Amino acid sequence: MRICRFERAGTVQFGWVESVSGEETITRALSVFPTSNVARAFVEGERCGVIVKEANLRVPVEPSKIVCVGRNYREHASELGNEVPAEPLIFLKPPSSLLDPGGTIVRPGASARVDFEGELGVVIGRRCRRLQPDEDVRPYLLGYTCLNDVTARDLQKKDGQWTRAKGFDSFCPVGPLISDAPDPWSGVEVQTKVNGELRQQGNTREFIFPLDVAIRHISQIMTLWPGDLIATGTPQGVAPLRAGDIVEVTIEGIGTLRNSVVDGV
Ligand code: MG
Repeated sequence: MRICRFERAGTVQFGWVESVSGEETITRALSVFPTSNVARAFVEGERCGVIVKEANLRVPVEPSKIVCVGRNYREHASELGNEVPAEPLIFLKPPSSLLDPGGTIVRPGASARVDFEGELGVVIGRRCRRLQPDEDVRPYLLGYTCLNDVTARDLQKKDGQWTRAKGFDSFCPVGPLISDAPDPWSGVEVQTKVNGELRQQGNTREFIFPLDVAIRHISQIMTLWPGDLIATGTPQGVAPLRAGDIVEVTIEGIGTLRNSVVDGV
């Protein structure tokens, strides 16, 4: 299953993506995301023949919140001089920080160091609250996507808490698609390139807290709603972005999220 969100003639819809004659194509469109039986709802959706690479893609979900796991790869914790946390370390990014695939990350004038953090994004499919210690999280997941947890590193250190550093507009690029094909438990490659040069390479097998542990933990604190996004942490190799850079987060089995960078005020 692959799903996107796209704009056509001023209307934003969800799209069902299939390979047609070797071309990734949006074959069906829906205005409202289905609450259940997703595949069947799309079969009954509006016929469509938009080629994905020619589509005006948007962030593929509309989350009520974006919950992020910090320091979930050992080498990344140590590259910033941090201890490995004893339980999942979580924080929020506001939905206003979301940025479409192909959109432009704006470096705010308030920060002298804006870093990329390529991450596997998880999309919640069913309301999820207070999961049991051994409960399987997979039935609660819709699928996976690429996410860039853009961070004003200097403000993260200065403020002590992370709302400002993680929360600027354009600091959460997500997309291009949601796919249920990857299996983070068996291992999914996460790569970040800047201007075509490989900067981060990790595998979800290296998570300190596997996805089920992290989601069960989050569900003890807050109810997760369909469409909510979980950012699962970034591998080693974070570094600053500069105006003119092109940053790409590639997740095996999903695709590549590509964004440009400019200086703002
Ligand atoms: Mg992160």
